[in-house]
Amino acid sequence: MSSMRPYRLFISLISALILASCGSEPAKFADVDSQRLLNAAATPEEWLTYGGTYDEQRHSGLDQINADNVAQLGVAWTYDLATERGVESTPIVVDGVMYVTSAWSVVYALDAKTGKELWLYNPNVDKAVGAKACCDVVNRGVAVWKGKVYVGVIDGRLEALDAATGELAWSTITVDQSKPYTITGAPRVVKGNVLIGNGGAELGVRGYLSAYSAATGDLVWRFYTVPNPNKQPDGAISDSALKDIGNLTWGDEGAWTTDGGGGTVWDSIAYDDVNDSVIFGVGNGSPWNRDVRDTGKGDNLFLSSIVAVDAATGAYKWHFQTTPGDNWDYTATQTIILADLPIGAGGATRRVAMQAPKNGFYYLLDAATGKFISGEAFVPQNWAQGLDVNGRPIENPEARYGETPFMQNPGPLGAHNWQPMAFNPELNLAYIPAQEIPDFYASDSLFEDRIQSWNTGTNLAAGLPMDLDLATAMALRATLKGRLIAWDPITQSARWSVEHSNAWNGGVLSTAGGLVFQGRLEGEFAAYNAVTGEKLWHQNVKSGAASGPGTYEINGEQYVTITTGWGSAYALAGGSAYDQPVPPIVGKVVTFKLGATGTIPDPNLVMAPRTPKADRFGDQEMIQLGFDKYHFNCRVCHGPLAISSGVLPDLRWSPISANADVWQSIVLGGALSANGMVSFADTLSPSEAEAVRAYVIKQAHDGAALEAEVAALMAAQVATP
Ligand code: CA
Repeated sequence: MSSMRPYRLFISLISALILASCGSEPAKFADVDSQRLLNAAATPEEWLTYGGTYDEQRHSGLDQINADNVAQLGVAWTYDLATERGVESTPIVVDGVMYVTSAWSVVYALDAKTGKELWLYNPNVDKAVGAKACCDVVNRGVAVWKGKVYVGVIDGRLEALDAATGELAWSTITVDQSKPYTITGAPRVVKGNVLIGNGGAELGVRGYLSAYSAATGDLVWRFYTVPNPNKQPDGAISDSALKDIGNLTWGDEGAWTTDGGGGTVWDSIAYDDVNDSVIFGVGNGSPWNRDVRDTGKGDNLFLSSIVAVDAATGAYKWHFQTTPGDNWDYTATQTIILADLPIGAGGATRRVAMQAPKNGFYYLLDAATGKFISGEAFVPQNWAQGLDVNGRPIENPEARYGETPFMQNPGPLGAHNWQPMAFNPELNLAYIPAQEIPDFYASDSLFEDRIQSWNTGTNLAAGLPMDLDLATAMALRATLKGRLIAWDPITQSARWSVEHSNAWNGGVLSTAGGLVFQGRLEGEFAAYNAVTGEKLWHQNVKSGAASGPGTYEINGEQYVTITTGWGSAYALAGGSAYDQPVPPIVGKVVTFKLGATGTIPDPNLVMAPRTPKADRFGDQEMIQLGFDKYHFNCRVCHGPLAISSGVLPDLRWSPISANADVWQSIVLGGALSANGMVSFADTLSPSEAEAVRAYVIKQAHDGAALEAEVAALMAAQVATP
């Protein structure tokens, strides 16, 4: 119990007793077994697993809230998740109790009717681990099973908690913690095993999916998605698949032999009970650039693939590779949805697996065999001319970039990222939280010389302007788009599409009430007509609303819930970079029901004054060096062009940038490593660190001037009738 403060435990026990005495609460907490999980679609009053059901459809049979009354939806309760970091969690709700996670893998149990806290569990992660997280220290949720709650911790632990008290039942380390592995995904429990993968392919790891006994925490099987550097057996269930299929697609030389090759299983896991398969999505190559990753230039299986294995043993069944020889961070980790579609002979149903991965194509596969049925682009893209009869992309030659930057859509953030997709099985429509975030790809001529956490073999400064004037800022901003697309997988075409004013919007919930719920970057949470796309209701939730919403029912009342919190990888795109600044806002669980009249507390906005903290310094050569070093070392956390998304400090306005000694003590001395800002002494010399500071100060002055220009323009617009 060392990881939970005693008074918290005391409160938890009291809470459990109070709940038990009310009579309406469960005698057993998280009393979930295979039967309940298999029947989840028939018991929509619960939300038993990350995707709602094993099919991961995120479609609820609840219809009390519908197109006729959704306008009466109001705030039932909110719960403060006490973090300014990203929140991506979908709450699990079982027998009146909600289990939800926050940043740094903290787990909360709440009364799902009132939002009252029953317990919280903090795994007390060493904050220095934050430097290993590509895309913020987020967590997408827990799994529940037979009285326990399972959480994947950002530092690579898998932990089981007592669902009644939050007390630690067991803890196991699932990764080599000397390597840059992280866990952000939600575990799933299938046949008594807890399934969990990991992330880290931007920093150099080898991916795999593991199954642990839910009862004991013992490893049952592990499936590696790429060979080990010697292409030798691991003594794992993946050995034969790699020997027969995977090894042949990798050369013998290249950075993959030292960087692990990538292929992390960081999000999507579905269970197909009809074929008794676990179907999971595999991530990008490490490094991204195949030319440096594998001199053999092969397809590099099972990167960017959908893989099916036997649910009990993990034995290989089939795979489908969405992006052979991945070169672009085109993960296939996005939501995998299973469904029965009327596409067989004479209208017979055929069981399919569907995915809309980062690469921008919607895939329909036979769930039993993995055979490609059909695929079509769901966003404008310029990397492929289409798919061949086997579903293999017909690449545009420019997409295999060299040192000249190529502006490509999708970029590494993908046409669809982790934000969950939903599927309405009555309408046979998928709802895709799609986006357009193009980016420049170029190879990095200095790859061999770089010792740094992110070493993708690509030039992370490619295509970015040294000087950001208003016209350039507006042109860059105009490239960022978001859409909610109702996609007909049978015809492979959009039925309707709602355009958003920005990219990086929320996951989707579909309900039998004929509704589709989705949050947006700017904080709007909305309900749309599932058939027409008409917006029927919206509410400002006062924070980024990116996670997958859920729904459940207690005492005859339907609730809709979403976790909010600005964060995650949007910093990579300079998300808000060309908009108004987005301040960190405390994350929340926000829960709605019909007729409720609650309010969402206003965020306590404490914004650093947006003024340069030092005079410009450095000649053009120094600024250029700072620009290059900044984008290779700092961009992925602090934002391109030194413009932060708001989650981590915007260095332009930080007082730290004013003082060369303080700057060096942090950037090289590691003075803030306890906060996750580790030392870059291995990659930056003192003069290079000072050049980065010179660039940051330049950007502060340019940024302040740009903001003044924008403010003057807006004032003029207001003044003009
Ligand atoms: Ca990636």
